[in-house]
Formats: sequence, structure tokens, C-alpha cells
Amino acid sequence: MAFFLRPVDVIRLENSGPDSWTVYWKRNFDFLPGQVVALSIFPSGVQRLYSLATGNHAEEVGILFNLAPGGALTPLLQAVRPGHRIYVSDPFGSFVGFKGPAFWIANGTGVAPFLSMLDSGLIEDKVMIHGARTREYFLGQETFSSLLRESYVRCASADQGKGLFQGRLTTYLSSRDWIKTVPYYLCGSASMIVEARDILISRGVPFKNILSEVYF
Ligand SMILES: Cc1cc2nc3c(=O)[nH]c(=O)nc-3n(C[C@H](O)[C@H](O)[C@H](O)COP(=O)(O)OP(=O)(O)OC[C@H]3O[C@@H](n4cnc5c(N)ncnc54)[C@H](O)[C@@H]3O)c2cc1C
Repeated sequence: MAFFLRPVDVIRLENSGPDSWTVYWKRNFDFLPGQVVALSIFPSGVQRLYSLATGNHAEEVGILFNLAPGGALTPLLQAVRPGHRIYVSDPFGSFVGFKGPAFWIANGTGVAPFLSMLDSGLIEDKVMIHGARTREYFLGQETFSSLLRESYVRCASADQGKGLFQGRLTTYLSSRDWIKTVPYYLCGSASMIVEARDILISRGVPFKNILSEVYF
């Protein structure tokens, strides 16, 4: 499906971790934290979806992306520089954050909607459970740890050390009981989401309380 895209000028491209970048432009729409845009490098080029990763009151809006080697879009996106023109749709999507308690569960660039929710002021009563292989791959960890403090859990499948749960995110989920009455937001790879969802359901979390956004 092709979305209608408008031109915007890149303000900057920031390195956000190993093989990960955030590209910013001047905010040209209102949105709800957690929503996505379609984006392309050319007016009628290949389009891909990205979660907005910045607060909904910020002057600049940004998306966090991973370089997918051999991918149709991200190698070109990684080469954009300030002043380059890119093309973005209006925001859309129902994976949106609200005030009140919630568990956020993410891997890879799946942290992006939660960065937007935090930057939009949705901090109180949130717990973030974050999975990655090693410590340098926890994208956005400085933001999460400074705002969520002990409500931020990093599960490292191939690393160990102070502040890390040693093991996969799904191992962490399997090792605990979970509150059944609050929403669980899952974002990232399909395999993580399916596994995490099954664990939560087996722990008695109702299906209706599990929201997911599958990236790849
Ligand atoms: C609702 C939604 C929201 C999304 N939000 C984001 C986001 O905020 N940030 C983001 O980086 N991606 C996000 N994605 C994925 C994004 O749309 C692209 O699929 C991704 O950037 C790869 O695009 P590409 O054209 O470079 O690679 P493609 O040509 O589409 O794919 C190349 C190969 O890379 C694999 N691949 C795709 N994405 C990734 C990835 N992120 N990491 C590792 N391997 C991958 C694919 O399985 C494929 O084999 C989202 C997808 C959806 C459906």
C-alpha cells in the first residue's frame, strides 16, 4: 500500500547505537506517542514504516532505525545529511500510550514508541523490560534508566554485569508472575513478540491486555 507523502528537510542524523541512527526533521504534524509514519527517500520510492521516537510536543520529530544490510531503504536513509529532502506520511496507528500503569516490552529498534511515550511525559507507573544481546545494543538505555530508574530492566542474552538480568527477555518473563489488569505493550521482532505474548497468556494475562507492534 502506498501512502501519500510530504517532503521534509532533514535537520540531522545522529548515531544512536551500533548500526542504529535517528533522523530528525521539523515537526510538521500532531501525533499520539506510539504512532508511526511511512517514509521514503524519493517522492515515489520504496516506502517503509517507522515509529516516531520523539515527544509529541517537541519541535523536531525523529525516527530511530537500524541499518538492514541489503535493505531497500535503510542503506539510503543512513546516507542522508542535513538539508536532504525525505518524504513522510501523516502519522497513524493505534499502538498509543496513555497515562496510568503499563508494562513496555521491546527489543531492537522496538524501543522507539516507548522513547516517544517517555518524551511525551508518560513516565509515571511505567515499567520497561528491554532485551538485547549485549550492553551496547540497549538502544535508548540512558533515557530509560534516567527516567524510569529501577522500573527499567535490561535482559542481556550474551552479556553479564551490574544492572543486567543475565538471560533472554523471555526467560525474564517466564521467571515471574505478572499483574493481570494492566496493559502490556510489546514492540520489536515477530519472534520475540509471539514468544512474550504466549508467556504472558500462560501467566494469566488476558489477551485483550496485550498490545503488539511487529517490526520485522
Ligand atoms: C508498524 C511498523 C513499524 C516499524 N517501525 C520501525 C522503527 O521504528 N525502526 C526500524 O528500524 N524499523 C521499523 N520497522 C521496520 C521498517 O519498516 C523496515 O522494515 C526496516 O527499516 C527495513 O527496511 P529496508 O527497506 O532497509 O529493508 P528491507 O528491504 O525491507 O529488508 C531487508 C532485510 O532486513 C530484515 N530487516 C528488516 N528490518 C530489520 C531491522 N529493523 N533489523 C534487522 N533486520 C531487519 C528483513 O527481514 C529483510 O530480510 C517497522 C515496521 C513496521 C511494520
